[in-house]
Amino acid sequence: MSAKYIFVTGGVVSSLGKGLAAASIGCLLESRGLKINLMKFDPYLNVDPGTMSPFQHGEVFVTDDGAETDLDLGHYERFTHAHLSRENNLTTGRIYEQIITKERRGDYLGKTVQVIPHVTNEIKNAMRKVASHGADVVIVEIGGTVGDIESLPFLEAIRQMRQELGRENTVFVHVTLVPWIAAAQELKTKPTQHTVKELLSIGIQADILLCRTDRALPNEMKSKIAGFCNVEERAVVTARDVKSIYECPLAFAEEGVDDLALKYLHIDAPARKMEAWKEIVHRAYNPKDTVHIGIVGKYVEYEDSYKSLKEALVHAALAHNLKLQVTWIEAEGLEEKIPGDRSYEAQLTGFDGILVPGGFGKRGVEGMLNAIRYAREQKVPYFGICLGMQTACIEFARNVCGLKAANSSEFDPAAEHRIIYKLRELLGVEEMGGTMRLGAWDCVLTPGSLAEKAYGKTEISERHRHRYEFNREYEALLTGGGLRLTGTTPDSTYVEIVEIPDHPFFLGCQFHPEFKSKPLEPHPIFRDFVAASYKNRLAHGVAVAEAQTTTVQ
Ligand code: GLN
Repeated sequence: MSAKYIFVTGGVVSSLGKGLAAASIGCLLESRGLKINLMKFDPYLNVDPGTMSPFQHGEVFVTDDGAETDLDLGHYERFTHAHLSRENNLTTGRIYEQIITKERRGDYLGKTVQVIPHVTNEIKNAMRKVASHGADVVIVEIGGTVGDIESLPFLEAIRQMRQELGRENTVFVHVTLVPWIAAAQELKTKPTQHTVKELLSIGIQADILLCRTDRALPNEMKSKIAGFCNVEERAVVTARDVKSIYECPLAFAEEGVDDLALKYLHIDAPARKMEAWKEIVHRAYNPKDTVHIGIVGKYVEYEDSYKSLKEALVHAALAHNLKLQVTWIEAEGLEEKIPGDRSYEAQLTGFDGILVPGGFGKRGVEGMLNAIRYAREQKVPYFGICLGMQTACIEFARNVCGLKAANSSEFDPAAEHRIIYKLRELLGVEEMGGTMRLGAWDCVLTPGSLAEKAYGKTEISERHRHRYEFNREYEALLTGGGLRLTGTTPDSTYVEIVEIPDHPFFLGCQFHPEFKSKPLEPHPIFRDFVAASYKNRLAHGVAVAEAQTTTVQ
């Protein structure tokens, strides 16, 4: 059977959760034994989001093959087992780059190169390529909102796909908004009618409407929308707000979204198996206790900048049946105002665990170093990711090994002791993305280390996105001071993990483990970090209780 397609578009406003909707449909279809794949087209002109600020675009999600992609691909991987690569996320910039390369090479044999058919063909070929790896169903999300000028070529391409493949091989899912107007005490259908009409004006009749609302749509409202929008009544789906995103697939299942899509695609599939998801959602809503993590970062005002990180912590908390409480701390605010003044420590007290995530550039680094020093000295579980590992090494060199001038050449190219430096530049490595180390790399773990205990094995693979590396010229000094290097690449060129023994949990890793965590497969390091943090909470809880008991006596 050749692949069938589900196209997901969005209307009325952005941020309606098209990515989550696509991922949730994928999750349901996978639970019915189908092999699925997902892809996203982003209508902007950047060739990929790698060069965009986290404030602009949110997190850059990295795939095994080192593609820097949209954060929706993170949802796809968390909700399904689809294997995603650079083929699964294309921007207008990338499509045009490919076309212009062909044009310069003379591939178009003197023809005028145009949006239709050349751009639309390139888009359709990209979909076919993803479909060619054996998927039963490919879910294609079109970024942006219907009505935007820049998404038109993508919409035209999916219109053509329906024309070529027929109704039984293509389904159009449109995510729309049905707002509750407080003044009128009414849900309003007009924006949905308009967006469906807008789609129709470019030749696309929506088949299924996922209506985002804050309450269930009454049946008469569903039949009104169905009538105006020319869809079956059961195809008007309440996509109500849920507290945990992991409830989305269950909410869609209740509304029969998967049954309907399968009916339209003429696919017979076994019943869905969602027990594991139900268990996760049950835990999310019935935690036994809370664990409180402080995240010291530089893009903290915009939570989407650390999307996968937050989700990985949620997965780890769920693994222990805990509710995750996160406090985002702006690293710059932890800098010493006057030398020696440690009043910033007030901001760091009370957390069960402290985490410093990835980041680029100098801003906030001194604040991160202070947070790490606090965690190390006060024996608060610490987890450093990428930049958080590099800063942990600098902190250790400065405050334990007495190397006050220790730094990364990223923050001070002229630093006397470059503990962290651009090793790849020295090695002369140039790959996609310049000297950036991107994508999956193998790593060997030291038996008996925190890392090896977490993974339960000594050979792992994790994803990277960074330029700077641990400088092994300082290895003897740092290990002499007590730091342990517990993970390296198999050829031992790159140091991947550092740990401090005699501490409840202190681990820094050069890779980004958050990209591989899933609700049903929590990442082992996150899982153990949260366990250590919770243990810390209980220890303090007991201490507080004892203190109170003492007072009462
Ligand atoms: N800025 C650091 C580097 O490029 C860390 C990057 C990161 O945290 N992703 O090596």
